[in-house]
Amino acid sequence: MRIHTALILMMSFFVATGDSLADTDSALMKASQKETAGFVDDLRAIVNIDSGTGYAPGLAQVEAFLVRHLKKLGAQVSTIEAKAKPDVCVESKPSVGRTVVGTLHGNGSLNIMLMIHYDTVFEPGEAAKRPFRVEESKAFGPGVADAKGGALLILHALDIARRRGFKEYHTLTVLFNPDEEKSSLGSREIIKDLASRQDVVLIYEPPKAEEQVTIATNGIAWVHLDVQGAGAHAGLNPEKGRNALVELAHQITQLKDLGNSSIGTTVNWTFLETDNKERVNKIPGQACAIADMRLADSNEIERVQQDATRISQQKLIPDTQVSVTVESRRTPFKKNPDTDRLASLAAKIFSELGKKIEPVAMRYSTDASFAFNPVGGKPAVLDGMGIVGDEIHTPGEWADLNSIPSRLYLTVRMLEILAK
Ligand SMILES: [Zn+2]
Repeated sequence: MRIHTALILMMSFFVATGDSLADTDSALMKASQKETAGFVDDLRAIVNIDSGTGYAPGLAQVEAFLVRHLKKLGAQVSTIEAKAKPDVCVESKPSVGRTVVGTLHGNGSLNIMLMIHYDTVFEPGEAAKRPFRVEESKAFGPGVADAKGGALLILHALDIARRRGFKEYHTLTVLFNPDEEKSSLGSREIIKDLASRQDVVLIYEPPKAEEQVTIATNGIAWVHLDVQGAGAHAGLNPEKGRNALVELAHQITQLKDLGNSSIGTTVNWTFLETDNKERVNKIPGQACAIADMRLADSNEIERVQQDATRISQQKLIPDTQVSVTVESRRTPFKKNPDTDRLASLAAKIFSELGKKIEPVAMRYSTDASFAFNPVGGKPAVLDGMGIVGDEIHTPGEWADLNSIPSRLYLTVRMLEILAK
């Protein structure tokens, strides 16, 4: 019995190995190469529209572009307003823009979602300052790789698949959200809800190299530190004040080592403000700070909360109140067998092109956090399916136009194989 099983396993191994040496689907490769010119035209069009998180006019323009293209694919399209409360402490604006959801119905049984954000980290005016340009095979411009190139990979791959008569899915859902660069506060619930109904979710953040896909990302939390003291005039009655800023400074100093680099947890204090906006002659009565926390292990939220609560009880200024709260913003997208299987499939498809795929874990965090089910089960999630690029969030951001055909090929083949 045991020998029999081993034999079957060995046989299936040989079959799998044989499959992985399959020839290129040359019709698909040709279609993907032909698609590149139109892809680049579309990329120029949407990179030249400013769509920084919170910039409603530009987000609306890109949204209209995406809706138009989804309708051309035959999708039913709905848009949902990204409403979210502004963050405590930080004077940030609430989420604006709309999440775009397109749905196609086929005649198979697989439910699959392709998703990416269409906001960028750049301020209005950036696209005029440095519009889309191409140097050799590299394209530059705000959001060119992160993630406007990713959005177009979804649309153009689906157009190729449509022309090949691809219908072997039950539902094919496309989601574009407008606020990923600020933790998807107004779109995370829709992502979680739609993802939970899928068998597979593919995410189109940019990989750094052609042969990469992303199989894990860190989580993000914010450590909120709030101090309540008492305001006073610095000249008239400073003795009546309880300086919240001084207490905050003391707390930050003693809470500076909450991280644990051996398991991938970093905690960095990056932001502070007081109720004293413009005047120098007032002792602030309120102060708050936020630390950016990155984590690979969800248990670290509780550990940091406990350590911070204990340490913060040592106060410098009497009669002040200090509170520390760790807020989970994105749970880690952990390494898991379902994702590994999708990465192996990607590798098999790339082998048809004589290329390799290397699964990578990223230090940053993406919407994979909200699509991924941390307790296991559906859906299987794979990230890093976008256009190849690097130096994201900087003026040097670039996308590799040479990566377009192979990346289109990867998505179309993946859809067709998964749906079988
Ligand atoms: Zn991104």
